[in-house]
Amino acid sequence: MHINALRVCVIGAGIGGLAVARALALRGADVSVLEQAPEISEVGAGLQISPNGFAVLRALGLDADLRNLAVQARAVSLRDYHKGEVLRLDLGALDSGDYYFIHRADLIEVLAEAARASGVRIRLLQKVAAVEGGARPRVYMASGAQTEADLVIGADGLHSVVRHALNGPATPFFTRQVAWRAIVPNLWARGPEAQVHMGPMRHVVSYPLRGGDMLNLVAVQERAAWTEESWSQRDDPLALRAAFGDFGPEVRAMMGAVEEVHLWGLFRHPVAKVWHRDGLALLGDAAHPTLPFMAQGASMALEDAWVLGDALAAEPDRDTALAAYQARREGRAARVVAAASRNAWKYHLSFPPLRWAAHAALRAGGRVAPDRMVRQFDWLYGHDVTRAA
Ligand SMILES: Cc1cc2nc3c(=O)[nH]c(=O)nc-3n(C[C@H](O)[C@H](O)[C@H](O)COP(=O)(O)OP(=O)(O)OC[C@H]3O[C@@H](n4cnc5c(N)ncnc54)[C@H](O)[C@@H]3O)c2cc1C
Repeated sequence: MHINALRVCVIGAGIGGLAVARALALRGADVSVLEQAPEISEVGAGLQISPNGFAVLRALGLDADLRNLAVQARAVSLRDYHKGEVLRLDLGALDSGDYYFIHRADLIEVLAEAARASGVRIRLLQKVAAVEGGARPRVYMASGAQTEADLVIGADGLHSVVRHALNGPATPFFTRQVAWRAIVPNLWARGPEAQVHMGPMRHVVSYPLRGGDMLNLVAVQERAAWTEESWSQRDDPLALRAAFGDFGPEVRAMMGAVEEVHLWGLFRHPVAKVWHRDGLALLGDAAHPTLPFMAQGASMALEDAWVLGDALAAEPDRDTALAAYQARREGRAARVVAAASRNAWKYHLSFPPLRWAAHAALRAGGRVAPDRMVRQFDWLYGHDVTRAA
């Protein structure tokens, strides 16, 4: 069936769902999005959009909006939790300088407005309970209502109903790490760079948002006790301050300004084996949830969205197009998920001589070949799915 005649139901109005809705509607498909939440811009804090994700936003016609709302990142500063900067990565060494920090709610709003402008219907308070594949796949709502389409896309995030239908129950395991996220006023006039403060068994990432008026904090701690994998669980700011009480004054000052904080448990999920069957398809976190240590959750969902739109426009047979989509995406998704899983320990070395040696190696690398330290990420940031065949 030509994409012009395709009726698509997308489950989830997150970044991946809204981006694929816009991509398909621009190519002529008839698209509805079902979202369980009562509002589009919900809780959430800062996100990073690297050049590979930005390429998709540009292809969707949203580059000017993003530039208006986001802070363009200039550098990443890796810092010892007491002794200051260990290594500075100048993002100017990348081929593209389009690396941004943005509030999740702002990006969601831009995507939702653009999707609506291209004819997409977004329906809120629509919790999907189950799906069933077929020539006309069906969607069963928790309310008892049903709907059908030619294609159902599960962009329903970490606890995806569509992933469950295609792959059975998931078996994520707790990484023994938890993360707090908070937003504080940028009282220190911090410039457009991300700072990573690295201490034993903990690290803190901070970067500016919204014209530099705010700082986004993500603080990671290793711990044995299990914590729920949820974006909306609140915690007491005192718990955060206590966990980082031995960090230097920069970090303690940021933590002191926190008034509201969310805590989430970090779980490792296998990349889904089955991404599509009988007109059901997965996208973004529903297919490949990733730990935050490469900051690629949003950019990978954007990449998926573009490639799925591309595959459906190029191939009229729905199931052949979905197979081509999975073939183009699964290797890269697995590589990013694995890289993120490997990254945390590097920040958390607790044995002082080992930490000293690792930091000395980073410093030396930064002195001898500063650009090479950044260029090691070319495979990730230099990949433009809007150009790749
Ligand atoms: C509320 C929220 C806050 C977040 N905050 C941050 C953050 O601060 N920093 C960060 O790096 N990442 C955050 N993320 C995750 C980040 O947005 C994703 O990792 C990334 O953008 C990939 O997006 P996605 O579209 O695949 O999934 P998500 O962004 O998780 O979107 C999934 C969407 O599907 C909806 N949904 C789920 N199940 C159903 C159902 N059964 N029926 C209908 N709708 C359903 C959800 O409500 C959600 O809107 C957050 C995600 C959510 C949902």
